[in-house]
Order: sequence, then structure tokens, then C-alpha cells
Amino acid sequence: MEIVQSIMKNNPCYKAGKRITVKGLMLHSVGCPQPSAETFIRNWDKPEQERACVHAFIDGNTGKVYQTLPWDHRAWHAGGSANNTHIGVEMCEPSCIKYTGGATFTCTDQTAAMEVIKRTYDAAVELFAFLCQEYHLDPLADGVVISHKEGHDRGIASGHGDPNHLWNGVQSGYTMEGFRKDVKAAMGSEQTVQQTAQVIAGQAREAAEKAQAIAGQAKEAVGKAQAETVQNQGSRTMAAVGSDMHISDRGVELVAKYEGCRLEAYKCPAGVWTIGYGHTAGVKEGDTLASEVAAKSLLKEDLAKYAGYVNACVKKGVISFALNQNQFDALTSFCYNCGNGNLEKLVNGRDAATVADKLLLYNKGGGKVLPGLARRREEERELFLA
Ligand SMILES: [Zn+2]
Repeated sequence: MEIVQSIMKNNPCYKAGKRITVKGLMLHSVGCPQPSAETFIRNWDKPEQERACVHAFIDGNTGKVYQTLPWDHRAWHAGGSANNTHIGVEMCEPSCIKYTGGATFTCTDQTAAMEVIKRTYDAAVELFAFLCQEYHLDPLADGVVISHKEGHDRGIASGHGDPNHLWNGVQSGYTMEGFRKDVKAAMGSEQTVQQTAQVIAGQAREAAEKAQAIAGQAKEAVGKAQAETVQNQGSRTMAAVGSDMHISDRGVELVAKYEGCRLEAYKCPAGVWTIGYGHTAGVKEGDTLASEVAAKSLLKEDLAKYAGYVNACVKKGVISFALNQNQFDALTSFCYNCGNGNLEKLVNGRDAATVADKLLLYNKGGGKVLPGLARRREEERELFLA
């Protein structure tokens, strides 16, 4: 499964910024015979798109998943209370069908239609299996994985028939009962087991390094658990002069990978109550977080401050070259780990190539090289040069 990060930041729903506790997943099809996810995204990623916003589109031509909102963001997909509980995913529909009114359509090419429908079905199974694991959901439990139509039947969504109408209309044989079973089966697949094993192995390794790092400075206590592998699309957007840049999801993932995640409040080596990915503001004993996703939201908020330091360096002219998004993300990660003073030292009066090389020097804790820090610096450098 390929997930392309394509967050619709211009959509008013994104700007509304409400979060939900994810309790289920709702499957839709778009109700429009247009298979390109990018076309939908272009049309929906606008300030005037005030009615609809979903978490993802599945492209009918490629089966690629385009994630258009953070998963725990409240979307406008259901037209009912399911917006408060369910992630909403749209499958794009084949271009060879023609709506004749409501949910009825004619189909000029059954074979071509089935190809698109199968492609989006298969991708939806994988995506839903991934999300069920991420949010600890049982796809077979009542009301957890439902279609828009089923949401309407349950009184939590508006009167739409998707995607059942599509599957039935071309006599695909697909049903929501079958879909839920396929999701459940995909959760037990080898790939999934492997991913879990990797996470556990990663946690063990990082935990060992954490013990080492505690001997060093508290701020450099790196190498906690976490081995999340969501691949974000790197963008090379150049910053407009004078405008503030923000860390991208790819940058957040990089920091998260090295900061590690704890869902229960704990006392850090310096005696400060900490939760999630090293979040400390307002944390007290007994606090818990619902998921890694919730922890990541906190991390994102914390990172905004360090992104601000990088922006300040640009404004003061301490950074003299135009930053692209990857360079901005790498420097924000560095600043979060090493502080603003070291950031200024790193970039002051240097060109991009020199900054990339000097970055690697910041790999010591308590006077000696820490493998976790060295790896983080290498990954930041890689991103910086990407
Ligand atoms: Zn729908």
C-alpha cells in the first residue's frame, strides 16, 4: 500500500482543526465517475470548499491512497454524527459509468469498471487493516467498519448509498460483510506481523541506547522507542521570502522516530513528568494518551516552537540561503534535539553544503559519540540534501 501525503490545508475543515477519538472507519465511494484522486484533491483543497472533507481518497487508476487529513482530525464525510467518531475514506469510481439519477447508473464497460472497483477495494482493505491496527479497532465488531449507507441505516450519516450502490450496480459481488472479513484477514497477514516485529526490535534497540544516553545530558537522552515507518512524500517547496515555514509531516515523523513514544506519564531523568514524544507542558502523574496519533499531535505543537527558531534564523539573516521544505524539516529536528544556540552556531555564515556536513558533528552525549545521535544526524543530513 502506498500512502501519498496530500493534506488539504486550504480546506476549511482542515483549518477548523478539530480532533476526534477514532472509534471506527467509514468507507465511501465518491458518487461521481471520475477515477483520479488528484482531481478531487485539486477541487477540494480550496477555502470555498465548505461542505466536504475526508481523510483519504483511493485513486481508481493506481490504487494509491492519498491521505488528505491527519487521521485523528474531524472530517466532514458522513453528514451526521459519525463525523465525530469515524475516519472517512473515499474510493474513486470508474469513468465508464454514467449516473442517471440518485444512486442509479448505467455502465458502458463492465470489465473496465470492475478493474477500477477491484483496485480501490483491495487498497481499501489494506488501508483499513492498517488503520484498525493503528487505533486498536476490531473490524468485525458492531459499527466499527461501516459504509456510508450502513451509517445512514444506523442514523449516524446522511442518506447516501455508497459504496454499496456501486458494488451492487455492477454486480461486483463485493459486500460490506465480505469487506470486514477481508480487513480482518489482512490484519493477520505476514507483512503486518513483520511490521510489528520490526517495531518491537526497534524498541528494544532504542531502549538500550536510551540507557546509555541517560548518562549524558538529559536533553540528549535520545534513542527511545519508536519505529514508525510511514513514508511521507518529500516536498521541495521553496519558502516565499518573509513568510513563516512549518514543519511537514515527514519532519514530524523523523523527530518521532528518534524521540520515542510513551502513552503514560513518566518521570524523565531530570525528574520532569513527561508523556508522548517528550512532551512536558502541563503533564502530571497518572496522565495518559489515547494513541500514538494523539502523542504525535502534541509533538507537532511542541515542534512549532522550534520551527519558529529556524524561521527567526532566516529573518535575522543567520541562514543566508533559501531553505526548501526538506532543509527546514531537518533543521527543525536538529533544533528540537540540540537547542537554538547550537542551531545558530551550525548555520551562521555557512552555505548549505557546509551546514549538511557540520551537522554530523553534533553526535555526542557526555563527551562520547552515541550511536542513536549519530544515526539521527545522518538521517537529518540525508533529508537536508534530499
Ligand atoms: Zn459517502
